Amino acid sequence: MTLSERDLKVIWHPYTQMQTAAPPVGIVRGEGACLYDEDNKCYVDAVSSWWVNIHGHAHPYIAAKVAEQLQKLEHVIFAGFTHQSAVELAERLLQIIPNNQRKVFYSDNGSTAVEVAIKMCLQYWYNRGGQRTKIIAFKNAYHGDTFGAMAVSARSAFTNAFEKLLFEVEFIDLPNQENIEELKARITALKNETACFIFEPLVLGSGGMLMYEAAYLDELIAHCQAENIFTIADEVFTGFGRTGKAFACDYMQRQPDIMCFSKGLTGGTMALGVTTCTQHIYDAFLSDDRLKTLFHGHSFTANPVACAAALASMDLFGDPLTAQHIQRITESHRQFVLQLQGQQRIKAVRQTGTILAMEWETGSQTSYFSNLRDTLYQYFLNAGIILRPLGNVVYILPPYCITNEQLNYIYSTILQALQTI
Ligand SMILES: *Cc1c(COP(=O)(O)O)cnc(C)c1O
Repeated sequence: MTLSERDLKVIWHPYTQMQTAAPPVGIVRGEGACLYDEDNKCYVDAVSSWWVNIHGHAHPYIAAKVAEQLQKLEHVIFAGFTHQSAVELAERLLQIIPNNQRKVFYSDNGSTAVEVAIKMCLQYWYNRGGQRTKIIAFKNAYHGDTFGAMAVSARSAFTNAFEKLLFEVEFIDLPNQENIEELKARITALKNETACFIFEPLVLGSGGMLMYEAAYLDELIAHCQAENIFTIADEVFTGFGRTGKAFACDYMQRQPDIMCFSKGLTGGTMALGVTTCTQHIYDAFLSDDRLKTLFHGHSFTANPVACAAALASMDLFGDPLTAQHIQRITESHRQFVLQLQGQQRIKAVRQTGTILAMEWETGSQTSYFSNLRDTLYQYFLNAGIILRPLGNVVYILPPYCITNEQLNYIYSTILQALQTI
């Protein structure tokens, strides 16, 4: 039996309608931007395996550091104990993110990083004796699949079954020149009950790679801070170079009160989540009263192996070569955008750094479930490229080590698809 056949007998896959989906492709190894199946066919990983991989697959440097850590210490309870890799990672992370961030709270993934951020804000007000329970988020936002993270995400087909159980959130439009004053007025009207505003800076990933300008986000952050509403930058997707700078927040003057990281944090090697906050938020939990403690933790909080992978990934991220790669991909995307300009079947093209998204004309509906999506997905898979359109939005966000040949192959296959589908 093939891997794929054995899989179908025992495994239930994420975001997959098991009755109609094509069998999963069995992958046996990876190298650079390539994933190899059981027949040694290469699939170019144009989506960085759900946006996590930044330095390429099975990177030997990360592998060596992980192996080293495993032989020293695989795990230790993180309440009452600490270890070298967690401390070093926190120290180094705080050096490269906005300098108002002072404390690192570890968890397991992007969703939990968001849960922790929300709990910090809600409990801040609780500890201070004045409850605030409202949260502001963007329409089309995505912050994860656990309940709190789901609640601050767009109400959609993903959340229908749970809608009644999701806490109330005030959803606002992405800011632009026209609506910025109106958005600020709305925030002001909500200020006495609102704990925080959570956002994906510059790019709403799962919402369809929707992009907006840093200047207007800056205004919203400044306004929230003036109104005593905490701001949470969810950099789970945008962090570690995706947008062209190290963090999307580097495009702004204002610094958020809380930040969330995961995905690229370990270079896509292991699951790890980080929530960072200001001294001011941290201080609101300091007390002789033990009930003011942040009661949150996971069995694998700050797992040493995951921290070691993150440290190794940060070494590679700090290498000037990585910045060159990011620059090269950004420039290459820019050239391809010009080529797409004349294409009738492309309704819109968007780019932020290494993220390139194009909206295909579908004729009718533009939803996550459009048939075009499945057709395109299979077309690219047959061509040996992993592209996983969000509905009619095809996007490329490759590992930074992708070669020019691989990039050009992706571009030319997209152009071909435009002619043939
Ligand atoms: C993927 C994602 C999450 C959730 O991360 P998981 O590790 O999948 O739980 C949260 N926020 C953003 C912006 C994401 O893209």
